[in-house]
Amino acid sequence: MNTSTTIDLLTAARLSHSGVGAFNVVLLEHAEGIVAGAENVGLPVILQISENCIRYHGDLAPIVLATLRIARAASVPVTVHLDHIESGALVRQGLALGVDSVMFDASKLPYNENVATTREIVAACHSFGVPVEAELGEVGGKDGVHAFGVRTDPDDAVRFVDQTGVDSLAVAVGSSHAMTTRVASVDLDLIRRLSSAVPVPLVLHGSSGLPDDQLVAAIAAGMTKINISTHLNGLFTGAVRAVLQEKPLETDPRTFVTAGRAALSAEVGRLLRLING
Ligand SMILES: [Zn+2]
Repeated sequence: MNTSTTIDLLTAARLSHSGVGAFNVVLLEHAEGIVAGAENVGLPVILQISENCIRYHGDLAPIVLATLRIARAASVPVTVHLDHIESGALVRQGLALGVDSVMFDASKLPYNENVATTREIVAACHSFGVPVEAELGEVGGKDGVHAFGVRTDPDDAVRFVDQTGVDSLAVAVGSSHAMTTRVASVDLDLIRRLSSAVPVPLVLHGSSGLPDDQLVAAIAAGMTKINISTHLNGLFTGAVRAVLQEKPLETDPRTFVTAGRAALSAEVGRLLRLING
């Protein structure tokens, strides 16, 4: 199946005031577990591969091609998205391999350079029919940026989308990357103002730190793409740890990775129901 593009999924969700779950693939088993979870509840999902993940594997092709294969075989719409890519060369490699969408992150550059570089990437991606997500101002938690202080101004967001031609926009509304507890809250009034001003779907990064009620409220206020990674990795690793504590002499990695994949899959199904409303 899978005739949907990432932007189809986001546009449909935005119109119906629901969300789309976007979960990060680190190992092959993440892709398998996330897709199994989505199939169990019959809902679409976006599989994300970050530049950090590509660096971990040492190359883009093996993890991207395997993830694309799993996505294309799914019984629900699944698209493959590159997440937080700072290298234009990696974006072009991803386009050649057939990724469905790209988040290009030039947010560390000064504003004018962010705009100029993002415009070039948008032109390259659009020539492949691939939509681009970009970021305006850093979402908290990376490279020492203060976690909860950063906010995106709606007027700046409108101007950035207009100047770059991006198809979706990551905004800073109070969430922070890599949180291991779900205790954060977002600025719902700011989300409402961004949602009514910005003409493209909004993306919530750092959603791992938000409890269920905050996720639901953020979507109701106008967030569309909900990125979750750390929270799922915590469950995956917790399940692996439990097996290894119970069976300290285990040698077959399938024994414990299976438990991690199953934990991931169950939570993905639960989250997708919540996110889709
Ligand atoms: Zn992010």
